[in-house]
Amino acid sequence: MSGSKKEKTCRLCKGDTYQLSVVGEFAHAQRCDCAVTCTNCQGTGMVVRTINGDRVASPCRCNSLQRRVQLFNEAHIPGKFMGSWIEDLEETHRSQKEIKYRLLKYRESYRHTEAGFLLWGEPGVAKTHLLCGLIGHLTLERGISCRFIEFMRLIMDLKHAYSKGQWDSEVIAPLLSTEVLVIDELGKGRNSDFELDILDQLISSRYNAQRTIHCTSNYNPENSGEGRQPVDFSGSIEKAIYGQATIGLRERVGDRIFSRLHEMCRFVQIQGTDYRTHRNRRSR
Ligand SMILES: [Zn+2]
Ligand SMILES: [Zn+2]
Repeated sequence: MSGSKKEKTCRLCKGDTYQLSVVGEFAHAQRCDCAVTCTNCQGTGMVVRTINGDRVASPCRCNSLQRRVQLFNEAHIPGKFMGSWIEDLEETHRSQKEIKYRLLKYRESYRHTEAGFLLWGEPGVAKTHLLCGLIGHLTLERGISCRFIEFMRLIMDLKHAYSKGQWDSEVIAPLLSTEVLVIDELGKGRNSDFELDILDQLISSRYNAQRTIHCTSNYNPENSGEGRQPVDFSGSIEKAIYGQATIGLRERVGDRIFSRLHEMCRFVQIQGTDYRTHRNRRSR
């Protein structure tokens, strides 16, 4: 994926030492065969580098590979975003170029308790791609635990758990304990009391524990909800919902959740050509 390549680079993984595939609905990583006898360290577990003329030995990254692969698999990145790396996004707008630059820096310098990003904008501008690319890198390259959840999926899982008589903590606990959480499609749904209650529980707990949250949303955080426009049904349903441009994120999630998010995330608007159409056109 990144970094300098050695001469004898594995053709299967290009030297990454892991391979990606889709298993069930999620992106899945596994250790490449080449990592069994690591070509970096010839199985010694240590690599020697020359820093300012001095030879310095440090643990080879193959040491922690199994753990990093496991973290990636526990992140529940949707299969369709397998291998959606930040650097691979073909930007169609300046805002995408800027956020790519910021996220590439962020993923290398990320420290515990650091603020996240709330990426907002129309459907199809690659908000989810960017955040999946971020947590793919944080797990596989930096060994940081991350978890992706689509908000409506969480609600469905909770309802399912209730119907089977399970505790909601079984569903919620991994979302609280993970170091970096990505909530996709924030503000979507009916926003019933039940849904907002779950969201409040999740965000408040992470806020108190000073744990990082990243979000995507189709709703504008700057809109107040006044002067609502009629819905335009000339395009897709997603576009029609977004077309209610005066419904803001604050109105969707309520003041309390909104102000917490404001403290925990940097709000960044993403614009661009609908990425899914753009990509389909390219692959034709
Ligand atoms: Zn390999
Ligand atoms: Zn090694």
